[in-house]
Amino acid sequence: MEQFDFITNLLGIKDPNITILDHVDSTTHKEILAKLDYLAPKCHNCHGQMTKYDFQKASKIPYLECAGYKTLIRLKKRRFKCKKCGKVAVSETSLVNKNHQIATVVHQKIAQLLIEKQSMPDIAKRLAVSTSTVIRKLNEFQLKTD
Ligand SMILES: [Zn+2]
Repeated sequence: MEQFDFITNLLGIKDPNITILDHVDSTTHKEILAKLDYLAPKCHNCHGQMTKYDFQKASKIPYLECAGYKTLIRLKKRRFKCKKCGKVAVSETSLVNKNHQIATVVHQKIAQLLIEKQSMPDIAKRLAVSTSTVIRKLNEFQLKTD
């Protein structure tokens, strides 16, 4: 397991609730399989105690390049179920922005490249995200400076 701790450090994954399970090196990219799990929180809906439920199907999170290789994190997120009202909630992490599957560090990198005045298609290609993700980030910028 020490080797996997090393990977989280190397990738700058700061969320201690993320555990790396496996990694795959293909000739074109690197893939990291990880899980997100922590103690069941209180229910947002009724404030009852939730319990651990199953894991969501792994979501694909494109990550920053690692040693020149495109890197993909497949993250399985724990789901919790409320004992009282039956509501199901998915675990949350600082690794990705809450409403979309883009890693926070990738967002920061987009911002940096926009400041360096790189073209949007170049940024999208380099970070393996869609051009619309880059445009969204640009719009966020403009909203802040208005
Ligand atoms: Zn509840």
